[in-house]
Amino acid sequence: MKKGEKRIEMAERLQVLPPYLFADLDRKKTALRAQGMDLIDLGVGDPDIPTPQRIVERLREAVLDSRNHRYPSYEGLREFRQAVSLWYKRRFGVLLDPEQEVIALIGSKEGIAHVPLAFINPGAYSLIPSPGYPVYHAGTIFAGGRSFFMPLVEERGFLPDLKQIPPEVADAATLLFINYPNNPTAAVADEAFFAEVVEFAQRYNLIVCHDAAYSEISFDNYTPSSFLAVDGAREVGIEFHSLSKTYNMTGWRLGFAVGNSATLAGLGKAKTNIDSGVFQAVQLAGIEALTGDQSAVEKMRAVYQGRRDCMVRGLRAVGLEVTPPKATFYLWVKVPPDHSSVSFTSLVLEKAGVAITPGSGFGEAGEGYVRLALTVPEARLEEAISRIQRLSL
Ligand SMILES: *Cc1c(COP(=O)(O)O)cnc(C)c1O
Repeated sequence: MKKGEKRIEMAERLQVLPPYLFADLDRKKTALRAQGMDLIDLGVGDPDIPTPQRIVERLREAVLDSRNHRYPSYEGLREFRQAVSLWYKRRFGVLLDPEQEVIALIGSKEGIAHVPLAFINPGAYSLIPSPGYPVYHAGTIFAGGRSFFMPLVEERGFLPDLKQIPPEVADAATLLFINYPNNPTAAVADEAFFAEVVEFAQRYNLIVCHDAAYSEISFDNYTPSSFLAVDGAREVGIEFHSLSKTYNMTGWRLGFAVGNSATLAGLGKAKTNIDSGVFQAVQLAGIEALTGDQSAVEKMRAVYQGRRDCMVRGLRAVGLEVTPPKATFYLWVKVPPDHSSVSFTSLVLEKAGVAITPGSGFGEAGEGYVRLALTVPEARLEEAISRIQRLSL
């Protein structure tokens, strides 16, 4: 072959991913900032509150100990898995065997992306919520699978209607992803829904992957429960958790998966071929996070609840429709009539300098909504509202 004849393009698995809507938005944000605009960014789900000091101190200590500089064990330190097990018992009343039913992850996104590699054969389906966290679909595509999207609609409280899944699709599926409290809709699920999921998974022999990243961010005396607290759940599923949102540790990369031991063994086998586990110093800090004083978590909930109330009041005052969520740090807001998710997002960004996320970026069923992240102080939220007010929607 002559030089220059062979063109190398990105692999098809990358080309078939949905166009990354957020890339376009990021470009616009950068351009507006370069022009000197004082942008209020409600676009990213990344907490502005720092990691509690006691956790930072534990990392400082652990990083000085050269025993922690070596390769970690791929499944996580026994002490870390024990801390997870203890936390699950205290928090959810769920008993987990730290040896078989807990695995450490480099953030829960890592585990979510890799679980399809362990259980999706070419052409097999993952059942995926739409709108939803983009990693469920990307992980499935990377494994050579297909996604069947389950629409989350307001009339059903943003819970998927399992009866609408064609039986031939359910037969050809191996994974079912759910996520409550939900990103981006901020909806919550009760144990009756989880029980329905267990029954469905038993009928079609599916592995349930419950993403519980927001279980600790809840309001108004509502406390989310674990999928694993439901009868039969441990036989059919695993639950993903993360220290990212609970302890404001998004940059640290620490999460875990718990539940069905055979499923975790498959995920672990995929992982041993790809990564080499979580930096031990980070795991030791994670043990401090899970087993130490939890008052910072309570304080964080109060901060988000204050921001939620402030923003819901403000949005309603400018005529936008929003339900105060019981959990997560997101608001899922209907766009005004004669706007699409993208056109409203562009208007608010360009004319008010407020960055939000178009619901359609999370899947087709997110059209007609935008997502606002409550990850800036209340004073900035007030400022965002007064700027949106001036648009006279
Ligand atoms: C933030 C988030 C996660 C957590 O990701 P990490 O990799 O643990 O930081 C997982 N799922 C959803 C839906 C999220 O929004």
